[in-house]
Amino acid sequence: MKNKICKLCNFKTFRKSELNTHINRVHLKIERHKCEKCEYKTSQKCLLENHLQSVHFGIKKYECYMCDFGSKTNHSLQRHLEKIHHVTKESKSTIHTEDIKEINTEYLQ
Ligand SMILES: [Zn+2]
Ligand SMILES: [Zn+2]
Ligand SMILES: [Zn+2]
Repeated sequence: MKNKICKLCNFKTFRKSELNTHINRVHLKIERHKCEKCEYKTSQKCLLENHLQSVHFGIKKYECYMCDFGSKTNHSLQRHLEKIHHVTKESKSTIHTEDIKEINTEYLQ
């Protein structure tokens, strides 16, 4: 059987359908995953799942402003901040408290 080769990156496969999938996903970045609840689209399923959870299901109500960490409760976000970023309540209040509040109200609506 003849190899199908992607002209853009030398990816090889025996199946034409697989080559098409490869081109769509890697080179055209087709946004195959669409959010049913809003206009959000992405090419990666895991990103859509993140989006659904954080935006529509409100699972990550409290998001860390320094990394991707998100949590259901303010308490565990505080714990995360202290443990991972060594941010205490005192130093945090001078930095991003307002940002966090804003994000939270957005998600709660
Ligand atoms: Zn390719
Ligand atoms: Zn959405
Ligand atoms: Zn963090």
